[in-house]
Amino acid sequence: MSDSNLSDALNQDWGDKVILVVEDVDTNKIFFDAALRRTSAKILWAKDGQQAIDLFKENNVDLVLMDLQLPVMDGYTATREIKKINPDIPVIAQTAHVMSGEREKCMEAGCDDYLAKPIRLQILIETLSRFLNS
Ligand SMILES: [Mg+2]
Repeated sequence: MSDSNLSDALNQDWGDKVILVVEDVDTNKIFFDAALRRTSAKILWAKDGQQAIDLFKENNVDLVLMDLQLPVMDGYTATREIKKINPDIPVIAQTAHVMSGEREKCMEAGCDDYLAKPIRLQILIETLSRFLNS
């Protein structure tokens, strides 16, 4: 990818989009905040699976970025519940686990895609673009 294509890819305007970020670790939240702030998307934050479901019910969410390792209720369970409420909203899993079978487990729970931590800015924006720009 050339430099100009790269900056185009990173210059997304999602001012009309609502992204629900489910993440329990503060340092990861800082990354997502910095990465997504530039897109002007409205960000909702949940720190566990139950809070994610509650926020999903209360808001018109366009996309969910779902950590899988969470307190109270894990991301697999939360994804299943969210997909029962609205199967059309994309759920992108993000996880530090790189065990084999993890991606399959994720897809089986209803996730639409999967990002392995540490997540690179470019990969994050490109992945979200595929769902938000269609
Ligand atoms: Mg976690």
